[in-house]
Parts: sequence; C-alpha cells; structure tokens
Amino acid sequence: KSFDEAGLHPIIQSNVEKCGYDKPTPIQAYAIPAVLQAMDVVGVAQTGSGKTAAYLIPVLSRLMGKAKKLAAPKPNTADPSYNPQFHKVKAEPLVVVVVPTRELAIQIFDEARRLCYRSMLRPCVAYGGLPMKICVEELGKGCDILIASPGRLCDLMDKPHVLTMSRVKYTIIDEADEMLDADWESELSKIMAGGGKYI
Ligand code: AMP
Repeated sequence: KSFDEAGLHPIIQSNVEKCGYDKPTPIQAYAIPAVLQAMDVVGVAQTGSGKTAAYLIPVLSRLMGKAKKLAAPKPNTADPSYNPQFHKVKAEPLVVVVVPTRELAIQIFDEARRLCYRSMLRPCVAYGGLPMKICVEELGKGCDILIASPGRLCDLMDKPHVLTMSRVKYTIIDEADEMLDADWESELSKIMAGGGKYI
C-alpha cells in the first residue's frame, strides 16, 4: 500500500512526500482510511510506529477538503449592531491534540508544522512550563491545530477571550493510557465536552 492510494488532499500528500514518508507504517495503514471515513478510532501502537502521522495525515487532509466551509465567519463591521468588544481575537481550533508531556507536545508540534506546510492551517503548542503570556499571544495569532497538555489547556479554556472549543471537529488523546494513569480524568472530561470526533 502507498500513500497516494489513500486519496489525500494534494497539499497534504505533497507534505507527506516532503517528510520522506514513502510507505504507510502498519498503524497508518489501519488508521488513515478509518479517519478519512470519519470513524472514531482507538489506536494501539508502540512509540516510533508512526502513530502521530497516523492521525495527523487524515485529519489534516479532511480539514483541507472542507477548508472553505470551515473558514471562521468574519464579523460584519458595517452592521450598526457590531460591537468590537464581542469580537476580540479568540483562538478557534478545529483540532485539539491532548498530550501528557511537554516533550511529546513539542515533537507533535514539529510534525504538525511539517505536515501543515503551505496549507494555511496553523498549529500552536501550549504546555505547563511555557509562560502563560506566550501561550495567549501565540493563540491570538490564530490557531487551527492546538497541541496541549491537559492542565494548560483547561487553564486556557478558563481565561476569557482566549480560546473557544466550539469549532473543534477532532479531539485526539495521545497516550490515552498514560493520561488516565496520571489522573487527568476530570481535565479530559472537560476538554472532551468541547466536541469533535475522538481519536
Ligand atoms: P511516532 O511513532 O509518531 O513517534 O513516529 C516515529 C518517527 O517515525 C517520527 O520521526 C516520524 O517522522 C517517522 N515516521 C512516521 N511515519 C513514517 C512513515 N510512513 N515512513 C517513515 N517514517 C515515518
């Protein structure tokens, strides 16, 4: 099996090639068609098996296919009832990837950046240990794919005018077993109440 049989969006297909991935790994061969068919997926594979790309490739490809429909509605500034107070910049991610450690967050962010090249999709990363001010500034520049640790993500959700989960289409819990072992259950419930397909 090869990546071009999967019917990926051409920009994502080209980024997969730029990453140097010739052939899907076993987890990718299973997960990519399932996510492309809009299924909820639970994937079990070892570190180094290509699991990050197994969810990022099909999710990004689907978003690209619907880019026009998903574009954030622009406020009508000519409307007499328009109040700039209610249209402060807010990050409206379409994808949220929740990860247990900062190392993993940075690793996934790097892979997301490579796969988002020339796609107009903007990935952002947020984790405990990064100054809150930097996270807020980065989100303010726009965020389509948010990669975050659960504690920091909940803190950002609680801040006014920073982040809304109302447009999330995909919620990915990376290393879900570790996340539950580490007692992030209440944070995960809060994040998953935000919506999206679950991977
Ligand atoms: P992961 O399991 O997501 O941590 O990925 C492990 C490494 O494999 C990463 O450095 C990826 O860039 C790389 N990788 C992912 N998919 C492929 C592929 N299909 N072919 C070759 N390398 C890959």
